[in-house]
Order: sequence, then C-alpha cells, then structure tokens
Amino acid sequence: MTVVKQCGGIFVRVGKCLCGACSYEIDGDPIVIAICHCTDCQRLSGTGHSTGAMYAESGIRLFGQPATYAMQSEAGNTVKRLFCGTCGSPLFGKNTGMPGVMTVTMGTLDTSDGMLPQVEIFTRTRRDWDRPNPAIQSFEVQPGWKPEDGI
Ligand SMILES: [Zn+2]
Ligand SMILES: [Zn+2]
Repeated sequence: MTVVKQCGGIFVRVGKCLCGACSYEIDGDPIVIAICHCTDCQRLSGTGHSTGAMYAESGIRLFGQPATYAMQSEAGNTVKRLFCGTCGSPLFGKNTGMPGVMTVTMGTLDTSDGMLPQVEIFTRTRRDWDRPNPAIQSFEVQPGWKPEDGI
C-alpha cells in the first residue's frame, strides 16, 4: 500500500476512512497542526479532542462521497464537517471564517511521521480524563484484560 508518494517533486500525503469508501490525497505541508478540546470536537470524535492539520483546500483531492454536516460556530461562522456516511470516520472540517483551507483529522492519515502539533486550543473545556498521565498503565497493544479482572 502506498502511504506517501512523490508526485512531480511535490510531497503527497494520503489517508482514508475506517472502511475505505472515502480517501484523499493532500499536496505539501500543513499550514498549522492543532489539538482542539472544544465541545464540538469532543462530540464529533466521541473522545476528548481532535487533532487536525490545516491545509490549502486547493491541494486536497477527495475520492468517494463523504457525507456532510453543517452547523453554526460560536463565532457565527458555518462549520461544515465531512465524514464517511458508511463507517462514520470524521475526515475534514471547513469553516466559512477561514476560506480556502480545510482541516484534516490526523488520525485518518496513513502516515503522519514528523507531524507535530504547534498549538492546543479550547483548553478551557479539556476533559479531566484527557490529560497526559504517565502514572496510568499503558500497553503497546490491546492487553488480555476482562472486566472481571478489575484493575
Ligand atoms: Zn468509511
Ligand atoms: Zn474543536
């Protein structure tokens, strides 16, 4: 599987939804990478935050037919979410307050080596359970644990 490809000297990153019905290619480097703790991102992702990379819309090619959901932002702009209508993966966000750019949810990229966030926003609504915590046990893969084992 091709995860990144070189196309006429331009670096191209590729990604897809969980089921593969929607995929995309993006040219070049992101404008900014942000971790967002807003309550919309929490609902959208079903978890504590979303990590998104903002790119020029002109460098993004979408394949498949993502479903869309539009809503008003706190600032009064229209925010449009693109997601796979089959598996539900959130793919892109667009905001009328920032024309010409789209934000890709970084977990849908095939590879994101070397891509690190520069900012964390809406931390006032960060969830208590979504803070880095070196004290909790971590496993490289799903551990062999059952609810009856306790913790
Ligand atoms: Zn899908
Ligand atoms: Zn957000």
